[in-house]
Amino acid sequence: MTGGRDTTAAAAHRGDVYRRIGVEPIVNAATTMTYLGGSLMPPEVLDAMRQAAECFVDLYELQAAVGRRIAELTSNEAAFVSGGAAAGLFLSAAVCMARDTQDGILRHAELEGLPRDFIIHRAHRIPYDSAIELAGGQLVEIGSESGTTEADLADAIGLETAGILYVAGAHLAEGVLPLEAVVRVARQSDIPVIVDAAAQLPPVENLWALSAAGADLVLFSGGKGLCGPASTGLVLGSRRYVERFERNAAPRQRIGRPMKVGKEDLIGILAAVEWYLRQDHQALAARYEAMVEHLVGWGRGRSDVTVTRETPGQAGQPTPRALIRLLPPIAGRRDEILAALRAEPPRVELLAEGHDALYLAPETLVPGEEGIVTRRLGAVLDEIAAVQER
Ligand SMILES: *Cc1c(COP(=O)(O)O)cnc(C)c1O
Repeated sequence: MTGGRDTTAAAAHRGDVYRRIGVEPIVNAATTMTYLGGSLMPPEVLDAMRQAAECFVDLYELQAAVGRRIAELTSNEAAFVSGGAAAGLFLSAAVCMARDTQDGILRHAELEGLPRDFIIHRAHRIPYDSAIELAGGQLVEIGSESGTTEADLADAIGLETAGILYVAGAHLAEGVLPLEAVVRVARQSDIPVIVDAAAQLPPVENLWALSAAGADLVLFSGGKGLCGPASTGLVLGSRRYVERFERNAAPRQRIGRPMKVGKEDLIGILAAVEWYLRQDHQALAARYEAMVEHLVGWGRGRSDVTVTRETPGQAGQPTPRALIRLLPPIAGRRDEILAALRAEPPRVELLAEGHDALYLAPETLVPGEEGIVTRRLGAVLDEIAAVQER
């Protein structure tokens, strides 16, 4: 997502800090991908971070205060700022495995004897779940393509079970138990439920609805929908577990120390949460619709593509995107098209889909950039057609 800015003189120099060392910026129509930099921070967030950088502060005090404030703002019992949602997964695993120890601190030398299994639907396996293994946890899969029953989950729970990892998102919902059912079964054995909701904003309600549905720990990425620092994440949920995060995390010299969060990041993510809650979410949704409509209208004028509006978004969020299907004779030329879009400024990044299609996501485009996308895409398609004719 972007903050929707800026027509000022500064805009003319946008990106120069990168160009100076030979890195040409990218018009991101792919969505909030970490490899493209996550999201763009609005001026309010950048200002807050700049001010945070101007003095020293006790980081324990700051983490606690930011946590209290974010919990209040999002109607959660407690909140903790992690160094990204993946770091939130790592720390969740540490806290859940050490939950019956006296001090709640995970030490790898003492792993033996601790519950280490994290139950996960097979359909929920994601590349990020290796953060659980990094902490010393083990993933135990349940369910199949044909479905999952509450009995499947109940049968998988045992003395070795440290927690249940549930990955939110409409795109992963097939054949998995609804969160409510997972919570119901987990409660019977007092097993914590971790929900990875890293990219599940919008809707804004997810900031409180997933914990209200009974999840003990809900994780969000700071650098996706929230438009905060890419190196931050939110852990929201029940005090019982969230209050133990700081025992395992930086600045303490414990297992989570490599994933530290600085004072600028702490203030930045707080400012981002405040900014996000202040947004007119209907107006944002309307802006996304208008961008997708621009693409659909552009497609109507061409014979080499069809462009349709699709939902959900790439991470299963209720956001629209434009599906650009390449027709013969350019149907097989997708990778060439992507490479050409990237080859010269203004560089444009779209998301590849299947063999012959591209997705445009509106949420990472600065207003006006949708015109850059259609101009560049049109030029690239014309060029490829011309080469083909020769
Ligand atoms: C993006 C993402 C993550 C990682 O989030 P970071 O904040 O970049 O660490 C984890 N899980 C899912 C489902 C994601 O989409």
